[in-house]
Amino acid sequence: MEIIKATKLKEKPADQSKLGFGKYFTDYMFTMRYNTEKGWHDAKIEPYAPVSFDLATTVFHYAQGIFEGLKAFKNEKGEIRVFRPEENFKRMNRSAERMCIPAIDEKFVLEGLFELLKLEKDWIPTAPGTALYIRPTIIATKIALGVHASTEYLFFIILSPVGSYYAHGLAPTRLLVEDYYTRATVGGTGESKCIANYAVSLKAGEEAEKKGFDQVLWLDANEKKYVEEVGSMNMFFVIDGEVVTPALVGSILPGITRKSSIELLRANGYKVSERRVSIDEVIEAQKCGKLNEAFGTGTAAVISPVGTMEYKGVDYVVNGGEMGKITKWLYDTITGIQTGRLEDKFGWVTKL
Ligand SMILES: *Cc1c(COP(=O)(O)O)cnc(C)c1O
Repeated sequence: MEIIKATKLKEKPADQSKLGFGKYFTDYMFTMRYNTEKGWHDAKIEPYAPVSFDLATTVFHYAQGIFEGLKAFKNEKGEIRVFRPEENFKRMNRSAERMCIPAIDEKFVLEGLFELLKLEKDWIPTAPGTALYIRPTIIATKIALGVHASTEYLFFIILSPVGSYYAHGLAPTRLLVEDYYTRATVGGTGESKCIANYAVSLKAGEEAEKKGFDQVLWLDANEKKYVEEVGSMNMFFVIDGEVVTPALVGSILPGITRKSSIELLRANGYKVSERRVSIDEVIEAQKCGKLNEAFGTGTAAVISPVGTMEYKGVDYVVNGGEMGKITKWLYDTITGIQTGRLEDKFGWVTKL
């Protein structure tokens, strides 16, 4: 792998408690190009810098692009720990397939990422709740306005030291159950991590924010009946002692934190059901005191407790607005494995 050295390094953010999310970027990035003659080629680590594109570039017009999000941690021994990175590149190739983007060599980009992380290890924050967020992305770069899959692409990985995803940290969130706008349909792109899915979600998110909510809870597009997911998180409920999460029906993003949570809960004796769960079932459970907990799962926020849900103008409080026991246990367990405070029994962490 070619490494082009930066002539000058940036100053790192001084206060790790004020990192926020995705505001700072490190000194280097990994890039790789694709064309039909050479396939993926020209992989290198180079100084982080703006890249210029012709305005007729495909991705700007037809949103042919996909991304991933994962995290690296550093412990007191200076050991770099990456959480389930193979899963992200596997999913990236599934997204690529859906979006007509050529597959990447998962092993190769993983090695590229590891080299980049070793080079940037001083950027990995160590304060509790912080991590180095990793953003692999592929965009279509052919200059053409015809509506076709591009024949040229740019793959890149950029890195950002981050704190907690929500400004209010681990405080329970307020969700608006969205019964007008939809995010995804079965047969569409909901289960692939494509950039267009986010553009589609902005309007509902903005309206919810104006009303004081943190995020939108999406329902299925057909009937507006079944719970799908939240913004950038998968959804879990604890109903009468049973942990329930919506089944991956085709319009829901298959989260790696979701998968890890299910595996951890089951290994620790909890009953977890992946099935369709209607909003009526959730509201009914809340009304008769059986909605024990609700939380979201995702790389950025890890495990995020839900404090209230508003549906059709009525507020439903979950667990007195407090973080539930299972939610807390999962948060502590996953972050414990990620940072090395707890034993990594499943072999999820790659140590560099
Ligand atoms: C990325 C993402 C998630 C969470 O997936 P993780 O792999 O757990 O980070 C959930 N929903 C959507 C829409 C996403 O884009």
